[in-house]
Amino acid sequence: MSHNETLKQLQQLLGPKGFSADPAELAPWTTDWRGRYSGKAAALLSPASTEEVAAIVKLASTSGLALVPQGGNSGMVAGATPDASGTSCLLSLRRMNQIEKIDPAARLVQCGAGVILQNLHEAVAAHDLRFPLTLGGKGSATIGGLVSTNAGGTQVLRHGTMRALVAGLQAVLPDGSVFNELTPLKKDNRGYDLKHLLIGAEGTIGIVTKATLHLVPALIERSVAWAAVDSPTAAYQLLLAANAAFPSMLEGFEILPDTALRHVLKHIPGTRDPLETGYAWHVVMELAKDSADQEPPSNAAEQFLGKMLEKGLVRDAVVAASEAQAEAFWKIRDSIAEAERAEGPALQHDISVPVDAMARFIERESPKFEARYPGTSIIAFGHLGDGNIHFHVKAPKGIAADAWYADDGLRISADVYDRVTEYSGSISAEHGIGKAKLAEFGRLSDPARLWALRAIKSALDPQGIMNPGKLVPLASDSAAA
Ligand SMILES: Cc1cc2nc3c(=O)[nH]c(=O)nc-3n(C[C@H](O)[C@H](O)[C@H](O)COP(=O)(O)OP(=O)(O)OC[C@H]3O[C@@H](n4cnc5c(N)ncnc54)[C@H](O)[C@@H]3O)c2cc1C
Repeated sequence: MSHNETLKQLQQLLGPKGFSADPAELAPWTTDWRGRYSGKAAALLSPASTEEVAAIVKLASTSGLALVPQGGNSGMVAGATPDASGTSCLLSLRRMNQIEKIDPAARLVQCGAGVILQNLHEAVAAHDLRFPLTLGGKGSATIGGLVSTNAGGTQVLRHGTMRALVAGLQAVLPDGSVFNELTPLKKDNRGYDLKHLLIGAEGTIGIVTKATLHLVPALIERSVAWAAVDSPTAAYQLLLAANAAFPSMLEGFEILPDTALRHVLKHIPGTRDPLETGYAWHVVMELAKDSADQEPPSNAAEQFLGKMLEKGLVRDAVVAASEAQAEAFWKIRDSIAEAERAEGPALQHDISVPVDAMARFIERESPKFEARYPGTSIIAFGHLGDGNIHFHVKAPKGIAADAWYADDGLRISADVYDRVTEYSGSISAEHGIGKAKLAEFGRLSDPARLWALRAIKSALDPQGIMNPGKLVPLASDSAAA
C-alpha cells in the first residue's frame, strides 16, 4: 500500500478528533522543546485507545510508514521530533489521559500513557499517596514519555528513576500486537524482561499505551534546606554526612553554582536569594517524613546543619520555615534551565560519573574547558546525589549562536563526552539519546553495547518504522561524528 493510501485509511480510522494534516495544528509539535531541532510530519495521529494504536501500527507496518511517538514534547534530546522528509507521522498519546485505577492497599496506579505528570501527582494525593518522581517539565511531560526516556528528576536519590517505579506496562509492538503486562508480579522469571526493554527505549521498539506505577505514602512532613558551601567537594562531603545521618529520609540533594542562582534571580520573576549573600556554591536538600516512626525533619535538618556549620563544611544555611518557602527554594532549582535559556546560548550536557567522582570532575575539568575555549564559562548544576549534573558550556558573549553551535559547539561537546568517558561515566544520565546525542553515542559506545542495541532494534522492528533515526546509531551515524 502507498503512503497516501495508508494516510487515507488512518484518517478514516481515527476521524477528525484523531487525525490532522493541517500544518497549523502540527506546527507546535514538529520542533523540540529546546527549539534546536525542527522537522516535518505528514500527519498528527491522536488515538484514544490501545486498540486504535494497534490499528495504526498495523496499517503503518503494511506500508513502512514511520511513526514518531510523542507525549508532551518536553524531552531534551529531540527524540519526539520528526525528520525533515515530511513522510513520517507524529503519533501523539495525549488523548490517552485516563487515570484508570488507584489501589491504595497495593500502592499502585494504572493510567494511560498520555497522563500528564502533574495531574497524576494531584490524583494520587487525593488518596493520601504520592508518585515520587518530579521534574521541571511536570506540567507537560506524560507518563509514556517519562517511561520511554526512563526519566529521573530530583527524587531519584531516595526512590530511583522511572525504571524503579514502573510495576507493569502495556505497549503496542512494531507488528501491531499488544504486549500486556499491566498486572504487576513480584516474581516472574520468564526470561527477557520486555517491560524493562521498553523503559528508556524512546519509542524505537514499541508504543507505550498504559502503565502501572508504584506509589508511596503521602508526606507527613518535609523539610527543605538551603546551604552555602565553598566547593563541590564540600557539597559531596555534606552529602555523605546527610546520607549517614538520614538513611531513610534524604529525598533530594542538588547543587548549583552562585552564577546559576544569579541568572534565576535575574530572569525568573518572584525569586529571591535564600541567604542574601554571595557564596560560591549552594545545596538544596530535602528530608521527607512519610512514616510515623521517623523524626520530625525540620528539627533534624536544623540540628544537622548546625553541626555542619560548626565543622566549617557549611558556610551558612536556612531551613524553610513554611511550605511556601520550601516551594520557593525548589522553584529556584527548577528554574535554572529556563533562566539559562534566557541568559544566552549554551551547550547542555546531561552527564553522569560515579557519585564519588563528580565533585572532582566539576572542579578539575571546568577550568580546563574555560581555558581551552576562551570566552566560554561553565555552569554545572543538578543531581549531585546521583552523580548526575547538567554541565552547561555558555557561549562567549556576543557570538552568533547558530554558527557557534555548528562549529565550536560540536568540538566542545565531543570534548565534554570524551572527558566523561575517561571518568567511566555516561553521556546521557537522564535525558536519553534521541537525535541530539546519536552521533556521539555511536562514536563513544563500546562495540558490545552497540552490537546488542542494533540487534534488538532490527529483530523487533525489522522495517524500521518505530521512531527511526533516534537512539540506535547506524554505522553511518558513528562515522559522521
Ligand atoms: C523544564 C524541564 C525540566 C526537565 N527536567 C528533567 C529532569 O530533571 N529529569 C529528566 O529525566 N528529564 C527532565 N526533563 C525532560 C522531560 O521532561 C523528560 O524527558 C520527559 O520524560 C519527557 O516526557 P514527554 O511526555 O514530554 O515526552 P516527549 O518529549 O514527547 O518524548 C520523549 C521520548 O519518548 C518517546 N515517547 C513519548 N511518548 C511515548 C510513548 N507513549 N511510547 C513510546 N515512546 C514515547 C518519544 O518518541 C521521545 O523519544 C525536563 C524537561 C523540561 C522541559
